[in-house]
This record gives sequence, C-alpha cells and structure tokens, in this order.
Amino acid sequence: MIEDKNQERTPLSHLGEFALIEHLTRNFKINHTSTLKGIGDDAAVLNFKDKKVVVSTDLLVESVHFDLSYMPLKHLGYKAVVVNLSDVYAMNATPTQITVSIAVSNRFPLEALEDLYAGIETAANIYNIDLIGGDTTSSNTGLLISITAIGEVDEEKIVYRNSAKPNDLLVVTGDLGGAYMGLQVLEREKEVYKVNPNSQPDLEPYTYIVERQLKPEARRDIIKLMAELNVTPTSMIDISDGLSSEIIHICKQSHVGCDLYEEKIPLDPVVISACEEFKIDSTTVALNGGEDYELLFTISQEDYPKIKANPNFTVIGFMKEEEAGMHLVTRAESKIPLKAQGWKNFND
Ligand code: ADP
Ligand code: MG
Repeated sequence: MIEDKNQERTPLSHLGEFALIEHLTRNFKINHTSTLKGIGDDAAVLNFKDKKVVVSTDLLVESVHFDLSYMPLKHLGYKAVVVNLSDVYAMNATPTQITVSIAVSNRFPLEALEDLYAGIETAANIYNIDLIGGDTTSSNTGLLISITAIGEVDEEKIVYRNSAKPNDLLVVTGDLGGAYMGLQVLEREKEVYKVNPNSQPDLEPYTYIVERQLKPEARRDIIKLMAELNVTPTSMIDISDGLSSEIIHICKQSHVGCDLYEEKIPLDPVVISACEEFKIDSTTVALNGGEDYELLFTISQEDYPKIKANPNFTVIGFMKEEEAGMHLVTRAESKIPLKAQGWKNFND
C-alpha cells in the first residue's frame, strides 16, 4: 500500500557489520553530560551522579507487533523509540539514553535500515535522547527491534504502580481508543488493496486515528506540566495495553479497588464515528484497545484543584478499598467487574 519511493536496493552484504553500524549511526549526536562514552567501545559509560536511574526495554517483532505493509519503516523507528520513552515517563523520570538492537533478514536492503534509523533519529532529536549503543545481527524471519531506554529522576519523584490509596482520584491524559481504531482502518485498507491494488484509499477523515497508530507520542509534556502544577501522582502507569488492564495493574499492585465511570472515559469524535462505522462499542475499544501511550495515574483528593480546569486531564474514577473490587460503572449505572483483555499477541 505504501509505495517504496526509494528504488535503490543495496544488499546489506555489500557492507560489513562495522561499516553498517557506522553508516546508520553517523548522524547521531551526544547531548547529555551523563553520557561519558556512547557508541564505539565494548560498552557505553554513563554517570548519573546523585540521580536515580530507570531502565526499560521493549522487543518488537515483525508480524506480531507491526506490519510493514502499512507501517513505513521510518514510522516504525520513531514508534519503537517513543513506546520505550513512554515507560520512562510513566516512572515520572526523564529519558536520556537509548540502545537499539536489530535482527534483520536479507530481504531488507541498506535503504530500508536507513529509513528505520531516520525515524529513530527524529525521535532522538525531538525527545533529546542520546543513542549510546546496541547490537546488530541477522534473522531468518524478518525484522526484530529491541530498544532499551534509560532515564534519570530524583529519588523522591519516582512514581511506582504500587502506591495508590483508597479515595485517590483516577486520572487519564488525552483520549483513548484512537490507536486501535487507526489500526482497524489500516487493516481494512490493506484488504481492499489486496483485492484492488489500484484503489486509492481516502484516509483523510481518519487522519487523527491513523496518526495515533503510526506516529504515537510519549507524554513528556505531562511530566513537565505536573512538575509545574506541583502534582506528584500517588501511582502511575502508561497505557500500552488498554485502560482496563492498566487499571488492574495499579489496583493489584497497590492493593486497592476502584470504580471507573464509563461516561467519563475521554473519546475523540473521530474515534466515536469510526466505532459507529465499524460497529464496535467505543467503551470496549477504550478499555481493551491499547497503544494509546497516554498516562494513567492516581492523585490524592487534595491535589484535585490543581488539575481540575486542565484539558489535558480527565478524572475517570476513584480508588476504593481492595475488598470492594474493580468495577466499570456503566452509563445505565450498573456495575461490571473490570477484566484485562489487553493485547492478544499470545492468543492468535
Ligand atoms: P560487540 O562485538 O562488542 O558486541 P559491536 O560490533 O556489536 O560490538 O558494536 C560496536 C559498537 O556499535 C558498540 O558500541 C555497540 O553498542 C554499537 N552498536 C552495534 N549495533 C548497533 C545498532 N544497531 N545501533 C546502534 N549502535 C550499535
Ligand atoms: Mg555486538
């Protein structure tokens, strides 16, 4: 569906491994004083002085986590970085370095890896991250990307998942379900394209949700905003798997229950209309869709005035004693136990 404008195809075997790494990483700059040594030795060397260090890794596997028939490699590189940074922000930390490891089959020419690294570089520039190393190897089964993100935070600012308290408010940033509905649109267009390769998809009405799927952003702005508002969440997690399973993570680890109000779940109008078109319930999409990379957190009620008027935040429920359980309070005011459906990678 996405035309490969770059017609040149240089086999990876034309470069040695070292020349390849050198070529792909030549434009990356080191900006952080905590990076003493980046790419080029047996290991990178970092110095965080009196800061605490957070580390998070994700592994992305072709045809499990991404489909290159509608995911341009540049977007894939960008997204692979952003989803890792989102985990660092979810600790209330600032990401500073990444490592990037790839396994690649000989079906990919050099130009494909250049596109991938162009996306990685764009994300590194936008989010101010140093690329400090990685590993490169071959694969028989397509493309694998593993990124490790490293970040720094003052010890007293770290926010875990296990410290929510009964009566805390449950708050989410942005809106939910967009990435999942964007994926539905892209999957549909892929099927149309298979039948008729000359068809021109009109994705214009779906720009917002397709972008949520192909070019997600991590909520760096929220970490900054919360510092300005002097709000420290009592617990926090990023929404990678869907609201429902993330709430359950917080509740289980914090030993609390919660009531989530269906009518409060923030949805973009484009998500609502796409749900109508695809005949999917928008609440189900928000609860189980995933990949929105918004932040979900709890705050004590005293902090409510600080976030009240801010359009970035929606209070969607409150925490209860553990014995009360975890429930969705529907628009019809019935209570349904929350279930974690999450990603279906292991069920397919
Ligand atoms: P080693 O044999 O010690 O594993 P490599 O030859 O794999 O070393 O890597 C040489 C340098 O290049 C190291 O600094 C490593 O971190 C970096 N590097 C290797 N692969 C990548 C990659 N895909 N992206 C960024 N840096 C990489
Ligand atoms: Mg190596």
